[in-house]
Amino acid sequence: MKIVTPINTFQEIKVMSIRDDYDFENLINETERLVLKYLEDQLQQDFAKDFCKCQDCVLDMAAYALNSLKPVYRVSLLGSLYTHNLDETEYGKEVSAAVNKAILKIAANPSHD
Ligand SMILES: [Zn+2]
Repeated sequence: MKIVTPINTFQEIKVMSIRDDYDFENLINETERLVLKYLEDQLQQDFAKDFCKCQDCVLDMAAYALNSLKPVYRVSLLGSLYTHNLDETEYGKEVSAAVNKAILKIAANPSHD
């Protein structure tokens, strides 16, 4: 891979350059993956059966949960081999609790009527 080091360029150009020079496809937001997994699980449970599940509400729930969590990123060089290793940890429990709180919060105060 040829890496061009910019000299005397603006920050914007460097940002463009790093995206051209490196493939960020393998940078995985593990927190987002877990939030969506727990959101899917919990929205199917009984306590959520009467909650609005429109596009706006579900995205608000995901955003609310994600904003309350410390992000965890990982670099995936081995495909999905390690994708499930956080689920059973303390962090997995934290994510599950944050998703539960987000569902209840948004269901009680949806951004629409
Ligand atoms: Zn809604």
